[in-house]
Amino acid sequence: DQIYDGCLMTKPEVTWDDIGGLEPMKISMKEMIIDPLKRPDIFRGLRAAPKGVLLYGPPGTGKTMIARCIASQCDSSFLNVSASKLTSKWVGDGEKAVQALFAVARAMQPSIIFIDEVDSMLSKRTEKENESSKKMKSEFLVQMDGAASQEADNVLVIGATNRPDDLDEAVRRRFQKRFMIPLPDNQGRLQILKAVLAHEKIALEEADFCTVANSLEGYSGADIRKVCAEASMTPVREWSGFLDTVELSEIRAIELHDLMEAA
Ligand code: ATP
Repeated sequence: DQIYDGCLMTKPEVTWDDIGGLEPMKISMKEMIIDPLKRPDIFRGLRAAPKGVLLYGPPGTGKTMIARCIASQCDSSFLNVSASKLTSKWVGDGEKAVQALFAVARAMQPSIIFIDEVDSMLSKRTEKENESSKKMKSEFLVQMDGAASQEADNVLVIGATNRPDDLDEAVRRRFQKRFMIPLPDNQGRLQILKAVLAHEKIALEEADFCTVANSLEGYSGADIRKVCAEASMTPVREWSGFLDTVELSEIRAIELHDLMEAA
C-alpha cells in the first residue's frame, strides 16, 4: 500500500462473496461497470463504460467495500480519497491536488478513484463559497471530462455519499450511473451474517442465522460486523488468564447465544 496525502493507493482483494445481499445490484454492476472496464475493446461507443459511478445510501452499508470489489474484479489500482482529508490537507490548493490525483490515476491505469463523502468536496455551489473551493470543483469537472474524452483512458471515478441531494448538479450529472445502497432487509442481513462469519469457527444452524437476522432489524452491514466481532470474543474470554497456553483448537465455536447477547 502506498499513501499519498489524503489518498491511499492499493490493489484490493475483495470478491462479491464477501459482500452480503445486494444480489440484483451485483449483476447490474458486472454488466455496466466491470465488463466494460475489463474489455474496453468491446465496450466502446454506445457501449462505453461510465466514467463516474455514484453509490449513495446510509452509512456502513458497504459502499467502500463495493468500490474495492469493483477494483479487485477489474484488477485496477484503487485510489481511496477521503474528501474531507483532501480538502483539509490541501487548503487553498485543492486544484493541484485534483490534478495530481488524476495524473496518478492515469499513470496507474486501469484505475479507480474512490471518493468517500464526495458531497463534502463537491457540494452545491453557494454564495459564501471561497475561491479555492470553487476552483477545485471546476478542476474536478475538467478532469472528469478529460477522462471521458480520452478513449484510451481507463479511469473510473466512484463517489460515495450519504447525502446525494447535497451534490453539485453539474457533478451529479458526471456520475452517469447511480446506485442506491440501502440498509439490508431480513434476507440481506442473513447474507451479510453468513459473509462476515464465513471464515470463522461457528456452530450455527440455518435457523440460527435466521433468528439473528430477525433480531437485527435496522442494523447496517457495519453494525452486523460489529455484533459478530463482539460475539467472537466471548469464547476467547472464557480462557481469560490462560491465553498464553491455550491451543487454538480448544477455543469453542461461536454459538447462537453469543450473537444474541452481542446484538
Ligand atoms: P460509510 O458511508 O460510513 O463510509 P460504507 O457504506 O462505505 O460506509 P463500508 O465502509 O463499506 O460502508 O462498510 C463498513 C464495514 O461493514 C465493511 O468493511 C464490512 O466489514 C461491513 N459491511 C458493510 N456492508 C456489508 C455487506 N453488505 N456485506 C458484508 N459486510 C459488510
